[in-house]
Amino acid sequence: MKLLVTGGAGYIGSVVTEQLLGAGHQVEVLDDLSTGHRDAVLEGAAWHHGSITEAGEILDESFDAVIHLAARSLVGESVAHPERYWHGNIVATLALLDAMRDAGVKRMVFSSTAAVYGDAEAAQITEDLPTAPTNPYGASKLAIDHMLSAEATAHGLAAVSLRYFNVAGASGSLRERHDPETHLIPNVLKAARDDAPHATIFGTDYPTEDGTAVRDYIHVRDLAEAHLAALDYAELSRHAIFNLGTGTGTSVREVIDAVREVTGVNIEAVEQDRRSGDPAVLVASGARAAAELGWRPTRDVRQMVADAWTAGAEHR
Ligand code: UDP
Repeated sequence: MKLLVTGGAGYIGSVVTEQLLGAGHQVEVLDDLSTGHRDAVLEGAAWHHGSITEAGEILDESFDAVIHLAARSLVGESVAHPERYWHGNIVATLALLDAMRDAGVKRMVFSSTAAVYGDAEAAQITEDLPTAPTNPYGASKLAIDHMLSAEATAHGLAAVSLRYFNVAGASGSLRERHDPETHLIPNVLKAARDDAPHATIFGTDYPTEDGTAVRDYIHVRDLAEAHLAALDYAELSRHAIFNLGTGTGTSVREVIDAVREVTGVNIEAVEQDRRSGDPAVLVASGARAAAELGWRPTRDVRQMVADAWTAGAEHR
């Protein structure tokens, strides 16, 4: 297939691009480099530097699908500057959908997020649980999910939303390079590398076994594989939604222990208050993705930490 990958210079987008090229697809990347890196785009992909609002200049009927990963994705920033999320995610995606409709491109795989569920109480989150995002980031992704449902019904789009849980790990040298870095695993690895004085635990009074927050970490390579399955799965006039996680919860303390084990560094962990807006537990049910996409993740947290550690070492 001929594909446009928006956000293909980002952490997840670069690994998705790598796998699409590996599967023999023709890939063009569109990225404004606001958070991505030009050197993360593999040579086999055609490169377009620009906003997704300019996708109309690229798309024509020769494209089979758009994999739409470009987005603003910082929860804290979305609370402080919600307008950036309404413009950067909702308005920009509407422009992308307009461009696809004009060009006759009928298929989209979209990066949605577990943040649409808010403080879900369930032990494992299924796709039919009520959505109740607790911040503008999650709300903007949910608005786009609603746009895709309506676009499928009204104009025949074949759409798949993939609701990511906590993505981690690396693929070769393709790794997380955010600035500022807010995610747990890269931050604990910084402490192991002496780029940070210690790891920080946000909240030790959660109603969980060890008092720290529990998340469902998913390896970026497993996650990317789900995009290829979703491309094949997408069906005209239908919007399908899948949660992507492993179904296993890991606490902040367990992540820090895994980093200590993998790196052999006895990282100091400093306990702080909860970070505002963080739910106690977020774990996916993988049942629908397994049954309908035929997709099952195979890599565990240890593997994520080990791959991120190795990828980071290459860049020192
Ligand atoms: N966290 C932490 N220390 C850090 C970064 C994150 O304790 O340096 C916690 C955070 O409060 C949350 C969990 O680790 O409970 C996962 O956070 P992350 O930012 O990686 O992902 P999120 O679940 O917020 O998308």
